[in-house]
Amino acid sequence: MIELSGLTKRYGEKVAVNNLTCAVRPGIVTGFLGPNGAGKSTTMRMMLGLDRPTAGDVRIDGQHYDRLKDPLRYIGALLDAKAMHGGRSAFNHLLCLAQSNGIPKRRVHEVLDTVGLTSVAKKKAKGFSLGMGQRLGIAGALLGDPRILMFDEPVNGLDPEGIHWIRNLMKSLAAQGRTVFVSSHLMSEMALTADHLIVIGQGRLLADTSMADFIAQNSRSYVRIRTPQRERLLDVLHGAGVLVVESGSGVLEVDGDKSEHIGELAAQHQIVLHELSPQRASLEEAFMQLTAESVEYHAHTDTPPGPLEQFERPGPQPGPQWGDDWTRS
Ligand code: ADP
Ligand code: MG
Repeated sequence: MIELSGLTKRYGEKVAVNNLTCAVRPGIVTGFLGPNGAGKSTTMRMMLGLDRPTAGDVRIDGQHYDRLKDPLRYIGALLDAKAMHGGRSAFNHLLCLAQSNGIPKRRVHEVLDTVGLTSVAKKKAKGFSLGMGQRLGIAGALLGDPRILMFDEPVNGLDPEGIHWIRNLMKSLAAQGRTVFVSSHLMSEMALTADHLIVIGQGRLLADTSMADFIAQNSRSYVRIRTPQRERLLDVLHGAGVLVVESGSGVLEVDGDKSEHIGELAAQHQIVLHELSPQRASLEEAFMQLTAESVEYHAHTDTPPGPLEQFERPGPQPGPQWGDDWTRS
């Protein structure tokens, strides 16, 4: 269990993390979701004791990170910043980590096997592809067999096979009863991985909810209808007290899961339907709305930001920017 209470981080005028209070529980995958610049990495660094909070604190099973004995055995992390593993081989990199943390050599072989790097263990890590580098980082996180695992944007830049692998790994770690905390700026990715969601925007908590509730509350279901007998159908539906919205190009929409009811009404009145299809608005759309005001350049201006504002963060952010995935419909 990780508990954040009133966690706050300021960088000068900038409030990167704003009074965040929430808990991350064991046995499930908790997704940490928010646009780029929302404060996810800063929060995770404070959780790991790599950055000092301006106010508030983080407790890991009731203790501060600095007080943990053998922290690698308690909490393992893959951070967003791509750590350079230099000229060492994958095996030696992990062996150094293991030796400085009192972890037996045997464990290095085990984690190399878990992440599928055994065959390249003697190769220099700096020649690794992005995906192999991520796997090596994950091997490092797993080394101490920790009860708590944190992954900051682990799928950034990975191919579909790598993404699938990481997703299954996180689920299996949670199924073993571990605490798994994973950040992403992609709703679609989280929807497939997380059981619980903590959503932030501009450093503030926007939602702390189970994925099932988030989907139920945020993905509007509706029925799409097309008919050559539009006026008659509208009369019938109005008569039955069904609220209809016309969404352009002859398409009618009715809120809720009412396709059977509408189909039967149409049949009773011998109305021809060309389409009667249940729909769900995407989670991406719901999430866009939830975080719209918190996307920094969205709030007060219609003009998109210049390149400097977009990349104001320290260091380039790999992967798509916030708007890329979510504004496309
Ligand atoms: P995320 O991981 O959600 O993309 P970050 O935690 O990296 O967000 O950043 C949150 C905000 O804090 C951003 O506006 C970023 O520019 C700012 N920030 C992060 N680290 C620093 C730093 N070392 N100095 C100044 N500002 C920072
Ligand atoms: Mg980040």
